[in-house]
Amino acid sequence: MKLIVANFKMNLLKKYILEYLNHFDDKYSNVIFCPSYIYLNYFLEKKLNVGSQDVAFEENGAFTGDVSASQLKSIGVKYTIIGHSERRKYYEDDKYINKKLNCALSNELIPILCIGETKEEREKEKAYDVLTNQLDGALRAVKKNLLSNIIIAYEPIWSIGTGLVPNNQDIYNTIFFIKEHLQKQYNVNLKVLYGGSVNNQNINDLQQINNVDGYLIGGSSIDYNKFLDIIDKVNC
Ligand code: PEP
Repeated sequence: MKLIVANFKMNLLKKYILEYLNHFDDKYSNVIFCPSYIYLNYFLEKKLNVGSQDVAFEENGAFTGDVSASQLKSIGVKYTIIGHSERRKYYEDDKYINKKLNCALSNELIPILCIGETKEEREKEKAYDVLTNQLDGALRAVKKNLLSNIIIAYEPIWSIGTGLVPNNQDIYNTIFFIKEHLQKQYNVNLKVLYGGSVNNQNINDLQQINNVDGYLIGGSSIDYNKFLDIIDKVNC
């Protein structure tokens, strides 16, 4: 079954979160909900699969405002998004992403590692170099036996929140390249999700791409009617 990851980003207030939750239960076994930290427990109480949108780069200590992998694990969170382009833009580089990935893995959280190129990089035919560097930077010194726990989300930056989606052939080729690199360089076969302006209008078309293992969905995961429509179309 394909994975569907909902990234709410810094959106939604408690009242709507509670209303949203009325529409979901544990039968949605391939859906992972990533709300803000303050709402994680509401999703856990409903026995849903839950991920955080980020994780600290150290195990514990004087890092005000951060939440560690072991803290997340201790409340029942199973996944964590790492290296989302919005975090790369404002806060972090490969060094921190690599530390976060190692913290997540050593605490048995499943990292959803986001990678993606800018429009300019794609136009200058630099996309594959950028993706290779992001992968190799993030996966440095990851223990061999833990590598297979990682999920990759390929998210072209120019597609996130813009309504622009690469054509199916480009998504196929890029995911093929990512999988091939992981196989050759790390001898691992990882799930690769596509993310970037997925919605209930374009999901049927995206479903035609046969090497996509699921979707990371931002804007269209916020409206539960639209999100349920996407889930139905993916799961049918
Ligand atoms: C995202 O937040 O990773 C994302 C893909 O957002 P959107 O679906 O809104 O493009």
